[in-house]
Amino acid sequence: SDHSLTYPRSPADMDWASRYPAYAKHPKQEMEDAQNESHDADLEKQRKFNALAKNVEIADIGCGFGGLLFALAPKFPDTLILGMEIRTSVTEYVQEKVRALRVQNASTNGYQNISCIRANTMKFLPNFFQKAQLAKIFLCFPDPHFKQRKHKARIVSFTLNSEYAYVLRPGGVVYTITDVQDLHEWMKEHFEKHPSFERVEKVFEEGVGEHGEGMDECVRTMRSETEEGKKVERNKGLKFVACFRRVEDPVWP
Ligand code: SAM
Repeated sequence: SDHSLTYPRSPADMDWASRYPAYAKHPKQEMEDAQNESHDADLEKQRKFNALAKNVEIADIGCGFGGLLFALAPKFPDTLILGMEIRTSVTEYVQEKVRALRVQNASTNGYQNISCIRANTMKFLPNFFQKAQLAKIFLCFPDPHFKQRKHKARIVSFTLNSEYAYVLRPGGVVYTITDVQDLHEWMKEHFEKHPSFERVEKVFEEGVGEHGEGMDECVRTMRSETEEGKKVERNKGLKFVACFRRVEDPVWP
């Protein structure tokens, strides 16, 4: 349930600095000094010290155990990447692993660009990101919710796609992958009919570019580095990929 889910009132109210300390706009000491100065740290001051030198630009929605995050971190060393996961214990596992990797890679400042938060992305996505903040959104092996009456629980719908469109910048891409063909068709249908999105390249279809040609790095990574992707690989199952670009000026009918 959402009872114990905390979420910021707005993106500016989020304590980003503690999640990406290497990118904090203000060093920790400066912040502590300011807090000691006045006990009733007002909202504006708090916001200032929660801010980052750069914003999160990649979101992995329903990141699970974080395989994709850990693989993307060195591939996009200057981009902040956020995993969002609804299960508490799974979120804590990812956070713990990020902490350990940062310590192990302290000499190279590795893994400072990834973090994971607990969130129900079906409800509060615009509370975390500003309009047009994100360049990429990953929806990797979302829960299929097979039964017809459960379809409303799917993380792709016309309404949710409007939220993805809001937080994505024009030209930004939603990457989807699943081993459930029915869900693949569902995601395609809902993104294709949404005025804010257009399908990117047929080359991402299953069976094409099997050896990597024509696939962008992100597609390759989500196919091979997600926990679910690995499981499907072991079971010799199929993976269905589809990507959608946020268009600049959507034309609403
Ligand atoms: N993306 C990972 C992968 O590919 O290995 C995990 C896939 S797993 C099948 C789906 C994940 O989405 C689960 O970890 C689940 O807890 C999470 N999830 C489901 N609904 C969610 C929601 N509303 N907000 C955030 N995470 C959610």
